[in-house]
Amino acid sequence: MSTIVEEVLAANEAYASDFGDKANLPMPPGRGFAILTCMDARLDPAQYAGLAEGDAHVIRNAGGRASDDAIRSLVISHKLLGTNEWFVIHHTDCGMETFTDKIMRDLLANSLDTATVDENGWHDTGTGPGSHEGDYIDWLTIRDQAESVKSDVNRIKKHPLVPDEIPVHGYVYDCKTGRLIEVPS
Ligand SMILES: [Zn+2]
Repeated sequence: MSTIVEEVLAANEAYASDFGDKANLPMPPGRGFAILTCMDARLDPAQYAGLAEGDAHVIRNAGGRASDDAIRSLVISHKLLGTNEWFVIHHTDCGMETFTDKIMRDLLANSLDTATVDENGWHDTGTGPGSHEGDYIDWLTIRDQAESVKSDVNRIKKHPLVPDEIPVHGYVYDCKTGRLIEVPS
């Protein structure tokens, strides 16, 4: 077994040994809200937004973008599980600002290995073969955090499967301070 698997299972053992009342939590989020945010490892929504198990839905992807799949989750979150207030939270220093669709497609066409980055941008040092499947994916990169938040809040609010009365709040999380900065819509 890999060291990571051992570490994860040891942490889980400790967690489960003190599970207590959490066994009886209902499925619908107790505080009735959902957060769409980036998968960035520095962001911990439970910490930055004060969540406990059972409180809220957290939907994460690269960038915290309002992709079709993120909207699928939000619609389920409201329609079947009753959330009625949503947050879109992007963040400073997001990796999604460091490349474009073309850069990602070219890297993947060259190889599937992890690329390297320096002051001149991304470089593919892998041995290949790569794949052109990346050409068919919209990577939803970010040029400006406030703009990407506004654009995603807008897309969610205007979506035909999203009721008008759900407030959608836009914020940028500051990786240097841990603070949420409001993005006025
Ligand atoms: Zn990010």
